[in-house]
Amino acid sequence: MAFILGNINNRAVLIQGDHYFDADSASNGTVSSNPMHAITQLAELHALSAQLHALTPTGNLAGVTVGPPITQPKNCFAVGLNYKSHAAESAMELPTNPLVFTKFPSCLVGPTADVELRSDTVDYEVELVVVIGTAGKDIDASDAWKHVAGVTIGQDISDRMVQFAAQPPHFDLGKSFDTFGPIGPFMYSTDHFSNLDDFNLETRINDEVRQSDTTKNLIFDVPFLIQYLSHITTLSPGDIIFTGTPDGVGAAQGKFLRDGDVITTTINGIGTMRNVCRRVSNFTKGN
Ligand code: ZN
Repeated sequence: MAFILGNINNRAVLIQGDHYFDADSASNGTVSSNPMHAITQLAELHALSAQLHALTPTGNLAGVTVGPPITQPKNCFAVGLNYKSHAAESAMELPTNPLVFTKFPSCLVGPTADVELRSDTVDYEVELVVVIGTAGKDIDASDAWKHVAGVTIGQDISDRMVQFAAQPPHFDLGKSFDTFGPIGPFMYSTDHFSNLDDFNLETRINDEVRQSDTTKNLIFDVPFLIQYLSHITTLSPGDIIFTGTPDGVGAAQGKFLRDGDVITTTINGIGTMRNVCRRVSNFTKGN
């Protein structure tokens, strides 16, 4: 049975309606409390989900702080310029191979965490995030979704000044400041969805819709990305892939994030994240 996996107080939980169930206690210790171990127990999570109706919830989601569903992936990949509309607004050529970079796993935070701004050039990017469930090397695109545990929402927060500070530019540092990877609120197993290639994505800043598109418009779709990455590196359970963002980013409009801005990020069928921006210390370049 389909399941919804979350993280409360750094413990794996299953979600049903407004309630959560501690995975370890609900399964009498069969499923690990550690979110990164639980993600390796897909069969157990499916089985536990089917039994939730007979169990007493651990608590109500109201009033608890939800953490990132994936806390410490071995690898956290991200893909740049993966929608034609975003490549066009960035005045960059369409890639002929995926433009892959790393977001350091240490940047991952939960769906309501504050985003810390260290300059006046920080930007938002809504993305579908894919979570690997079954390890694999040299995965064929036709088998790729079978290696995916589930999907969640991500914001690939980016400091544009730092992203383009070095020549040639490299994306990793500017996209890996602490708090630059909100994900959540929960991971939905892939069997929730009849069509895995058509998720509607949206970013609102305060009340203004800035980004709105569908993953149908990805240049390199999820199966291709998994095939491509797995030819380079073994994919492990819990590895995550930020799949790219459509147009509407702040840099293209001169509208960067400011102290107090509320980023509301929605993917239909998965939910909504709400992150508040906080201006903190100034980042200082090396020279
Ligand atoms: Zn991105």
